[in-house]
Amino acid sequence: QTMVTDPLTGLLTRRAFEEEVNEAILRSHEKQTPLSMIVGDIDHFKNVNDIWGHQIGDVAISEFGQLINRTIRSGDFAGRIGGEEFCILVYDCDESGAVRLAERLRTETPNIRLGADTTLDVRISASFGVAGLRPGEGYKSLFARADSSLYEAKQNGRNRVERSKKS
Ligand code: GH3
Ligand code: MG
Ligand code: MG
Repeated sequence: QTMVTDPLTGLLTRRAFEEEVNEAILRSHEKQTPLSMIVGDIDHFKNVNDIWGHQIGDVAISEFGQLINRTIRSGDFAGRIGGEEFCILVYDCDESGAVRLAERLRTETPNIRLGADTTLDVRISASFGVAGLRPGEGYKSLFARADSSLYEAKQNGRNRVERSKKS
């Protein structure tokens, strides 16, 4: 039996997420419904662990996952695809709409409170890459475009949203 949800965040595991994405992409092509993907990654997370410790790091991952979970719509789903890396399938939504969703997540991320100790002022930010599904496109290509947009967001200074470039 494979684990479907990640215990720390309650989001789908990478494998379960990928299975759901493949189904959603088929449905999207079939019904000609737009679909977009967002990849999000906490900025300088290594520093969070190094300065505040792994327990606070785990709280950050958990809270970031919960932020995603309560922000997305019921037809959407999200997975924890790496340590502090998350992916969202935004159903029935074009790339511009998904950029607006990613912007909401980006602006909410620094409001995440880490730890009951109010003297602890730990702020995190996150970067996001967005790509809208193209005609005939599959999971690998869509993910690659969202992920390279995330890479650009990191290169361009972090705490940013970038979208897939036309090509
Ligand atoms: P960037 O802004 O470029 O994303 O830098 P970064 O430091 O966030 O990225 P990097 O990939 O270098 O570091 C990710 C860190 O996340 C390293 C790893 O130890 C930590 N990590 C991965 N999984 C977990 C986890 O479950 N809990 C905690 N506390 N840390 C984790
Ligand atoms: Mg990171
Ligand atoms: Mg990462």
